[in-house]
Amino acid sequence: MTALNPDFAEEMMKYGEDTALACFNCGTCSAICPLLHDHFPRKLIRYIQIGAKDRILENAAELWKCLHCGLCTQTCPREANPGEIILSLKRMAVENWRKS
Ligand code: SF4
Ligand code: SF4
Repeated sequence: MTALNPDFAEEMMKYGEDTALACFNCGTCSAICPLLHDHFPRKLIRYIQIGAKDRILENAAELWKCLHCGLCTQTCPREANPGEIILSLKRMAVENWRKS
């Protein structure tokens, strides 16, 4: 079972992330993403919103699939900047690997 961390969205700010809470989960980013992979990147933003840090860390390798093409950021109606969120998640994952 995934443990939820209610402070996760706030914790992510130290990695540069400050737009995830603007996302209203419309799915436009997942529809335009060339990876066409399992609701990527929308699900990652939702995981931040609900505090599912463990779920992201369990599947952290998929963060490195991102091409940083910018299409998600260009099309997001809420300026949630998914590409930058993925960079912040990478920083968070690397720091967790270093500690483990
Ligand atoms: S396009 Fe923007 S608002 Fe829509 S799901 Fe993606 S990040 Fe959220
Ligand atoms: S920046 Fe990454 S998540 Fe966004 S559309 Fe491109 S490959 Fe997909």
